[in-house]
Amino acid sequence: MTANYKMFIDGAWCEASDGKRFQSLNPATEEVWASFPEATAEDVDRAVKAAHRAYLEGPWSRMSATQRGKVLQKIAREIESMVDTLAAAETTDTGKLLRETRWQTRNLVEVYDYYGGLADKIEGQIPPMGPEGPLAMIVREPLGVVAAIVPWNSQLHLAAFKIAPALAAGNTIVLKPSEEASAAVTAFAEVIAKAGVPDGVFNVVTGSANPCGQTLVSHPLVRRVAFTGGVETARKIIPATAANIAEMSLELGGKSPVVVYDDADLDSVVNGVTSAIFAASGQSCAAGSRLLLQDGVYDEVLTRLVKRTKEIVIGDPTSESVHMGPLATQRQRDRIERLLAESEAAGARLVTGGGRAGHSKGWYFEPTIVECDTQDFSIVRNELFGPVLSVIRFSTEEQAIALARDSEYAFAGGVFSKDFAKAYRTARAIPAGRFWINTYRVTSFMMPFGGAGLSGYGREGGVHAIQDYTQAKAIFVNISGAKVADPFVMR
Ligand code: NAD
Repeated sequence: MTANYKMFIDGAWCEASDGKRFQSLNPATEEVWASFPEATAEDVDRAVKAAHRAYLEGPWSRMSATQRGKVLQKIAREIESMVDTLAAAETTDTGKLLRETRWQTRNLVEVYDYYGGLADKIEGQIPPMGPEGPLAMIVREPLGVVAAIVPWNSQLHLAAFKIAPALAAGNTIVLKPSEEASAAVTAFAEVIAKAGVPDGVFNVVTGSANPCGQTLVSHPLVRRVAFTGGVETARKIIPATAANIAEMSLELGGKSPVVVYDDADLDSVVNGVTSAIFAASGQSCAAGSRLLLQDGVYDEVLTRLVKRTKEIVIGDPTSESVHMGPLATQRQRDRIERLLAESEAAGARLVTGGGRAGHSKGWYFEPTIVECDTQDFSIVRNELFGPVLSVIRFSTEEQAIALARDSEYAFAGGVFSKDFAKAYRTARAIPAGRFWINTYRVTSFMMPFGGAGLSGYGREGGVHAIQDYTQAKAIFVNISGAKVADPFVMR
């Protein structure tokens, strides 16, 4: 039976104004399992206006920061009671392992508690102007309506890093999930409804890039666009904000390098690299998809990695014994197959994988390793967002750094070596928003993430992210009691 989700606008569940819906397929079965309203431009306009009204007039804007913080902590409690529902929706919609969606959803509880606790710690400043004044104050105020756009992977997690700091700082939100997988974010609106968040403060609109996405990011009442997705989409969103001059953060893709020096602990390397590229079927912005191996360990690491890769169990993402589920979309698998074939024809050597893992249904794709003599292959230059690892050889530290730097992306990276000074030099030399030494994928909501270059700009996570959802206002107060002086007499 198809699950019929609704949008959440101004505190109420609703259909699209023209009644149209779109469907979502389960990547493990290729069958329709859910449908969503296809938002019209009028629906998006209504959602933004509701958010704007809630920002200006509603109880939200009159609440103390401490009260706002308590609302976020109520959201955390409601998530606790809905972990299974939210995780199941995300797994069915995207093919991500249920074990992982459960873990990520439980982790959200801490994220909302964390930002709830920060709500009343957004403090202003009083610069030292002297006892005669003026009294000068810097207060930090919310921006207004935030348009949050998330992709289909880790959507609740990525949405939380926008929703939690934005609400804690006193903003209101219109959130658009991906049309490829809208279930988990839409189900999350139930958490909001139960937590007693005032009407209009949080809204979800579902639909396609156009009109839903474009109407949202260009809406005159939107003050900030918080976007996570691909670079090509970012190239459409940036010009759209010429209409409203909204502030923006762009969390985009990656092509992250993992450098392995001869002196590395190879057991850690094999597990670290496997998690870097094959966890979440490689559908991760931080995936370590370029493996740079030094001459002395090249053959041994490759042999051990291939053995480990062949042990990966691919199948039903709800099964506890499965390591890798399907890719989220057919489009995704088609693109990976095309770029892989193109690179092989140009001389890249397939070492393992490259096929559909023997499944006749579901968008499964094997964990794949490809040796590349240079980085001039399309699988090395482009983010594949799938389980494909390119392996490149190097001899010296300088070569490793030059190869690692040779990418338009700069999202993450890793290095394995027992020589800490060398590992640290390497970490500092490679542009990235996040870097791991002798590990990979370890994360915490207290740490910033984001990229540079084609990986975007802005940082989410941690204490500082909350500042991005505020703006400084400078207030001068005449405290001397003196009358305002004649403006044309210079003193
Ligand atoms: P995508 O760019 O196709 O879509 C992302 C979102 O943008 C979706 O909600 C989509 O509907 C919306 N969108 C598309 N066109 C739009 C337009 N013209 N105007 C407004 N909105 C529009 O990305 P995807 O395929 O869903 O996700 C994969 C991408 O996301 C990868 O590149 C991945 O690296 C990136 N990603 C980045 C991070 C990060 O933190 N940096 C995290 C996860 C995923």
